[in-house]
Amino acid sequence: MALHRNLIDGRDTAASDGALLDVLSPIDGLLFARIASGTAEDVDAAVKAARAAYEGAWSRLTATERGRLLIKLAAAVEGDAETLAALESRDNGKPLRQSRADVTALARYFEYYGSAADKLHGEVIPYLNTHFIGVERVPHGVTGHIIPWNYPMQIFGRSVGAALAAGNATVVKPAEDASLTILRVAALAREVGFPEGALNIVTGLGRIAGAALAAHPGIDFLSFTGSPETGTMVQTAAAKNHVGVTLELGGKSAQVVFDDADLERALPALVNAIIQNGGQTCSAGSRLLIQRGIFKDVVDAVAERFRALRAGRPDREPDLGPMINQAQQRRVQAYLERAKNEGLTVAAAGGIASDAPAGGYYVAPTFFAPVAHESVLSQEEVFGPVLVATPFEDEAEAVRLANGTAYGLAAGVWTRDAMRSTRVARAMRVGQVFVNCYGAGGGVELPFGGFGRSGHGREKGFEGLVEFTTTRTLVIAHG
Ligand code: NAD
Repeated sequence: MALHRNLIDGRDTAASDGALLDVLSPIDGLLFARIASGTAEDVDAAVKAARAAYEGAWSRLTATERGRLLIKLAAAVEGDAETLAALESRDNGKPLRQSRADVTALARYFEYYGSAADKLHGEVIPYLNTHFIGVERVPHGVTGHIIPWNYPMQIFGRSVGAALAAGNATVVKPAEDASLTILRVAALAREVGFPEGALNIVTGLGRIAGAALAAHPGIDFLSFTGSPETGTMVQTAAAKNHVGVTLELGGKSAQVVFDDADLERALPALVNAIIQNGGQTCSAGSRLLIQRGIFKDVVDAVAERFRALRAGRPDREPDLGPMINQAQQRRVQAYLERAKNEGLTVAAAGGIASDAPAGGYYVAPTFFAPVAHESVLSQEEVFGPVLVATPFEDEAEAVRLANGTAYGLAAGVWTRDAMRSTRVARAMRVGQVFVNCYGAGGGVELPFGGFGRSGHGREKGFEGLVEFTTTRTLVIAHG
């Protein structure tokens, strides 16, 4: 059985107390690997290694040289694509096509941020004739990255890729449920020549290794993606050390369908937005808001598609894979039970493929309609393949409902009326709006992040690179 160790200061390192965590595959619930159960001591060693790199070899590289290393890493990831994709599907359970897409995005993050490393300019402020005033962009120093299990490679790429490009040295805590591809990519980084200590990985439990990283006084900036509850703890810990943090948290994103929408175009996107990654996507389109006059027709059409959906093993290219672990499977099932007990109408349910292994964590995708806006299913993030539909009368109500949860991550707007689409899109209190399309999370190049309970700070795109820097203002008298 594969045993995976931490990467600290360029070396494979066992946990300080030798402890290991079992890694079960969500496909069948079977043990298939073990990872180090990192301790506070391991985190401390990783932060010290990162500090030494930051003050040494890593900072001696020019921005162009850092960028070239990232571009080499992109090529190494592409060269290893099939192995990485298979490993991700085994570890996380996602369909192979999704794992392949994640590998492609990971390589693209390294390429994008690698190419951007030497284009991060400061500015000159013409404020006084007697002084030169310049503002330079500088790295924070040592950055900590806490990664969730749903898109390990993509989130690693966007967060750690940007931090390294900006010149930070990094310490990464992957999710205990899906660490393996991150460890493999870190090994590739070592092979392509990243200096020791620039990239350190400590696997282990959130409440031990994650909490130790969030609270470590040697961390200059934190990037967290995960649940709002953990985000609060991470931000509290960061505040005690007076350091900044980006929080990419959950969502309850609405897709607003007006009665003039192109339904042929909309329908596949409405379904895919909640099925992609088994609904375990922060920007999943988990609420449909449908204008009253077409409500029944759209619900019927979505229901028909839902009935055909199957959860199954990743190598059979199912519509969706299993949930990440048994706790998540039970959490989703509890939401379904509760909704049924509250009398919500199941418009349609998909199924579980007959060849799905019995021990796997599969859940049948379920569509409820109509669902009141105030109900738990309309307000809480399920993080599973559960979709609700709610009717609305007019544009004002659509905007009120779309903005009517604690979250604010993404939204979709479907209409043929160009003026209305722009008006409604700009009324959405979210970080990304899609008009007549829906690409959960958007692309590598597009800034991404939330309002409210969805978090703050931006990752992806150039905006994401800037987040991993701060400024130093130089005021030089010359007259
Ligand atoms: P989680 O908060 O339990 O875990 C996320 C990470 O935090 C893991 O690495 C975990 O080990 C670590 N962690 C757990 N407890 C910790 C603690 N006390 N201190 C420090 N670190 C700790 O979340 P999850 O269940 O892995 O992920 C699901 C959630 O993440 C969902 O709410 C989802 O919407 C959100 N998410 C958001 C985005 C985004 O970009 N906005 C992306 C992916 C996931």
